[in-house]
Amino acid sequence: MIGGQLAVSVGNALLYRTLEDRIAERTSALRSANDKLELLSQTDTLTEIGNRRHFTQYYDALWSRAAAATEQVGVALVDVDNFKKYNDRYGHPAGDECLRRIAGAMKSAVRSSDVVCRYGGEEFVLLLKATDAAHAATIAERVRAAVAALNIPHELNPAGVVTVSIGVAATIASAQTSPASLVERADKALYRAKDEGRNRLAVAAAA
Ligand code: GH3
Ligand code: MG
Ligand code: MG
Repeated sequence: MIGGQLAVSVGNALLYRTLEDRIAERTSALRSANDKLELLSQTDTLTEIGNRRHFTQYYDALWSRAAAATEQVGVALVDVDNFKKYNDRYGHPAGDECLRRIAGAMKSAVRSSDVVCRYGGEEFVLLLKATDAAHAATIAERVRAAVAALNIPHELNPAGVVTVSIGVAATIASAQTSPASLVERADKALYRAKDEGRNRLAVAAAA
């Protein structure tokens, strides 16, 4: 009798063990599927860098940490020059390939702590943590040069190859300053870089 009960208890314990194991397995499979989905939802399908959604999430988090530490944050907006003409001249698929190569060149030109995202269309954004305006300008210049060095022919661009213009801005993050206003300053600087002849960068004056 006691032997029989013992056998049932051991049997139940084994059953629970197997069930627990299977639940643990399923939970871990679900977690990894969720992680993959989360990554996909933040990745630009064309260029395989972070998309606008990733930019927003990462930037908000970066800003909060920087504000808590009273640290500088740098932002650079990168816009491909005369890209409409590139599509017109070489076709949309070639334009897509061009954007992929630009994204690759930008990623190779920045530091491992910098983040490059597709901001939209033929525009990209660099997020530079703990970086002042002078240093942000150095990195942006490296990015500009790396894109020009790809040497992608563009007959309808004055440089003869594909180039980018970049607007740079930096500020000390604080609860009083807004992350959006830093992007606005970078955007204004980008307009200036375009006005001044493209294939160059402009740095926003200190706020
Ligand atoms: P600017 O030097 O003033 O920036 O001139 P631009 O021609 O680059 O600017 P504009 O805003 O007139 O044109 C942007 C072009 O970028 C038009 C659009 O078709 C192209 N573009 C945006 N996204 C993509 C994309 O995913 N693939 C391709 N092939 N083209 C794109
Ligand atoms: Mg544009
Ligand atoms: Mg453009």
